[in-house]
Amino acid sequence: MTDKELYEKLKYSSKNAYDEMKPEEIKAMLDMADDYRKFLDAGKTERECVAVTEKMAIDRGFEKLDEKENLKPGDKVYAINRDKNILLAVIGEEAPENGFNIVGSHIDSPRLDLKQNPLYESNEMALLKTHYYGGIKKYQWTAIPLALHGVVCKRNGEKIEICIGEKESDPVFCITDLLPHLAKDQMTKKLSDGIEGESLNILVGGIGVKSDEIQEKVKFKILSILNTMYGIKEEDFFSAELEAVPAFKARNVGFDESFIGAYGQDDRVCAYTSLKSIFDIKSPKKTAICLLVDKEEIGSTGNTGMLSKYFEMILAELCCKISGEYNILKINKAISNSSCLSSDVGAAVDPNYESVYEKNNSAFAGHGMILMKYTGSRGKSGASDASAEFVQEVISIFDNNDVIWQAGELGKVDQGGGGTIAMYIGNLNMNVIDCGVPVLSMHSPFEITAKSDIYMAYKSYVAFYNDR
Ligand code: MN
Ligand code: MN
Repeated sequence: MTDKELYEKLKYSSKNAYDEMKPEEIKAMLDMADDYRKFLDAGKTERECVAVTEKMAIDRGFEKLDEKENLKPGDKVYAINRDKNILLAVIGEEAPENGFNIVGSHIDSPRLDLKQNPLYESNEMALLKTHYYGGIKKYQWTAIPLALHGVVCKRNGEKIEICIGEKESDPVFCITDLLPHLAKDQMTKKLSDGIEGESLNILVGGIGVKSDEIQEKVKFKILSILNTMYGIKEEDFFSAELEAVPAFKARNVGFDESFIGAYGQDDRVCAYTSLKSIFDIKSPKKTAICLLVDKEEIGSTGNTGMLSKYFEMILAELCCKISGEYNILKINKAISNSSCLSSDVGAAVDPNYESVYEKNNSAFAGHGMILMKYTGSRGKSGASDASAEFVQEVISIFDNNDVIWQAGELGKVDQGGGGTIAMYIGNLNMNVIDCGVPVLSMHSPFEITAKSDIYMAYKSYVAFYNDR
């Protein structure tokens, strides 16, 4: 063996996934990418994503967990929590005490939520005030077409679903930005201060009613339109959940169409691929669970976030319905022996901003699934830090199934960082590791992923469900 051969054998380097894929896999990857774009367009909010997922699940023979008493191997069930959080399970051959195999991801994404009393008039224009949700760079949300999605609950008990700005014939909405000619002061501000939170007001109208009695003619007109379209009054905004999201559709990116550009790929790219994989497994040894949660972008709080007791309650229900008895020791064992891939996107090295990455430990678009032993920031704060034993187990499963993967920390030490749902899953005393798809322009209105990485995510989840 030459020195070169020996060195190649001993050293680690990540691989480009395209280079390793067989022709039939490339075909499957392109088909999956087409289907994925449709999934993204159909579900731009957590509620829409749950509705789309439920439909996909029913089409594939999944039944409501609520309506089942006893579960046997091969049974496929799902449960929905408050329309924002869904769990799918395929019951395995082994007893629940041996643990479940769980892939968890989140379906909420950064966006602009309407305030409780949003509508006002200024300079004969009607606008909606917003409070942003999640970590956004505010300047990215001005001067782009926005759509409004959400629900309004009326006092009579009726629930109105709103989705406007997505069809070609729909109007869209927009936050205006200052023209460069008058932006001398704005341009000298720090990027973080250039656009203020209270300036994220969405333009929604400009024609007033003809009336001598009313001062706010445009606001009146918009209220009238809303009343005609949806039967709502201004007070109905107080309870409403209305989210402004980018109005454009998911697209192929590049002359070679190697990437997908779309809103909300953090973390619907992991939601989609984990769904695809649980649909494709037949009779797993351990019960396979796909979990899609809400509120990750604001700290996993609330009754639909990962911190909710819902997850423990639903795992207990599964245990009881599989084993036919209520036994707290067995439930505890089932949870402790479970393993979870906390599936969330990671940062891909951006050729325009290389300096914030430490390249030996960063992920590259097209180099496959990212395995993150730990996340967190400033001294690993907030990391669940997967054990050496579990990381090796996952790596072996990936390697045995030709999954192209790479290690990837979120940028340089002390450059920033971030957390995921992993730490909350870890708190339940189960094995958990962060993994997911590398993303460029994360949290922007148009996030970029490589098709090969999406395919590798799918492949890794199938391998995890089948082989662990
Ligand atoms: Mn995420
Ligand atoms: Mn995020």
